Amino acid sequence: MTDSLTTAETPIRMKGIGVSPGVVIGPVFVMASDQARVVERRVAPQSIDHEICRLEDALIETRRQIKMIQKDLEARTDMGDASILDAHLMVLDDRAFIEEVVNEIRNKYRNAESVVKEASDRYAAILGSVEDDYLRERVADIRDVARRIIKNLSGGVETTLADLKDKCIVIGEDIPPSVTASLRRDTVLGVATDLGSATSHTAVMARAMEMPAVVGLRDISARVSTGDKIVMDGTRGVVIIHPTASDLDEYGKLAEARKSIQQGLTSLQHKPAETKDGHRIVLSANAEGPEEVDAIIEYGAEGIGLFRSEYLYISRNASLGEDDQAEIYADIAERLAPAPVIIRTLDIGGDKFLAGGRFRKETNPFLGCRSIRLSLLYPDHFKRQLRAILRASVKGCVKIMYPMISNAREVIQANALLDEARDELTRDGVPFKKDIEVGVMIETPAAALTAAVIAKNVSFFSLGTNDLVQYTLAVDRVNERVAYLYEPTHPAVLKLIKATVDAGHAEGVWVGICGEMAADPLMTPLLIGMGVDEMSVAPAAVPVVKDVIRNIEQSRAETLTAAALKCKSATEVLGLCRDLTAEVAPELLELI
Ligand code: PEP
Ligand code: MG
Repeated sequence: MTDSLTTAETPIRMKGIGVSPGVVIGPVFVMASDQARVVERRVAPQSIDHEICRLEDALIETRRQIKMIQKDLEARTDMGDASILDAHLMVLDDRAFIEEVVNEIRNKYRNAESVVKEASDRYAAILGSVEDDYLRERVADIRDVARRIIKNLSGGVETTLADLKDKCIVIGEDIPPSVTASLRRDTVLGVATDLGSATSHTAVMARAMEMPAVVGLRDISARVSTGDKIVMDGTRGVVIIHPTASDLDEYGKLAEARKSIQQGLTSLQHKPAETKDGHRIVLSANAEGPEEVDAIIEYGAEGIGLFRSEYLYISRNASLGEDDQAEIYADIAERLAPAPVIIRTLDIGGDKFLAGGRFRKETNPFLGCRSIRLSLLYPDHFKRQLRAILRASVKGCVKIMYPMISNAREVIQANALLDEARDELTRDGVPFKKDIEVGVMIETPAAALTAAVIAKNVSFFSLGTNDLVQYTLAVDRVNERVAYLYEPTHPAVLKLIKATVDAGHAEGVWVGICGEMAADPLMTPLLIGMGVDEMSVAPAAVPVVKDVIRNIEQSRAETLTAAALKCKSATEVLGLCRDLTAEVAPELLELI
């Protein structure tokens, strides 16, 4: 991808999707991407020598890496020598190629990445058209070497995120949840990506780690180089590359203002989530790991409404045995008791995969064998998790929740396996609570519309609106190109939420919501008016949501919801919600 020429230090303002709040200012570290997209940048005349040095360093590094791979190949295979990579080294030794690149940088003031890319594309095109098999095969070598040089120019393939020493903002085309999970708060100030959307699991992870993040920036990874300074506002989704002094001043003040609003909310920690007219909502937190328990207590959440158990695997990059899981769940339950901990069984698939590719690749992973479907396919593995949860139940108030249910049969099958798990523990004399509550996530339109049937088999529902919105509106939740269509206030979504709450209540089942929609304070009155009994949000969002709950009457919220259910568009609903929040908690608008 190419862009218009810009001078090296001209500020570049970009707008993406703010998915984890907070302002950060600092140098960037650009994560190398396999499909390196390269943007053309103008290099200031005084920086040309530096640009050529960068190129020379990258060529040396590339040679070193290829030699290392050759050595490794020789050691690991019986090839004797790894001469197949000699062709790669020949590309690096091709004086004509290198001189052409250097001249282009020097004469046209262009950045090395774009010149290497263009020159290699041109060589590849010429060789690809020649009637000679040997030469045609060299096309792949040229492309491979060029990709490696570009990677080395833009941060280096060898550096891993765990090795980062200095504070920086990590930039990447995409940063998968497994990598986000490995980021360290002491060195990583924030993350910004080309791809992604508000409910992608990368975003979920960043929020859980209270790490400011902006996603969906389209080509930021190609526009910045490691070491460039940026300002990033994870609340509004703004990134400024090469900020001016006045940008730095403005964002510094904004960060201060937001901090003081947040500090004002800390007084709510021990106050109940109760409306002005005395209606109590259970306000709990979403969590991805045991390390979040302290924050959950500190922010005043009433337990965990969604424990995304798959992150235990993702963050450890490994499968966990029954004993390991039981220990982790028991520790969390004990620390939060008597508050409840709802453990969601494994929700692997969609955009959450374990490193190492142990699962089959699918064309449509969000519609494929993910979540409960995967658990039912591997009953022994599933029962190990169920036994672990049951064992932890004696330490506190533990509940079980099945994800991505699309029909009652899945719940019945899962419950049958739960009974088997109970029988096995009883047989082995292992104690567990007999009356553990079991619930399901309502994340598919099918589940919402048949909630009355599903309710017969469970004691609670939790609306997973992140998925419910994507499945209802046919909008991939991680695709930034359709993010504008991802509208939680779409009338179709609101009708499904209302149908779920009403069906649950009619069957004596309590209804919560744990999708990101619950963490948006603009949505709080709407959800109270829908009649939800519980809201589960990222720990840091608890005070903000509690503030809205405490500043509104239930009757007022019900009036809003009744009006919203008559609206014709998502925008209209959003307008009503914004007006009401502006009235009851105007200071919060600064934080949104
Ligand atoms: C949801 O889909 O709303 C949800 C909470 O689950 P996850 O985001 O983990 O898919
Ligand atoms: Mg979900």
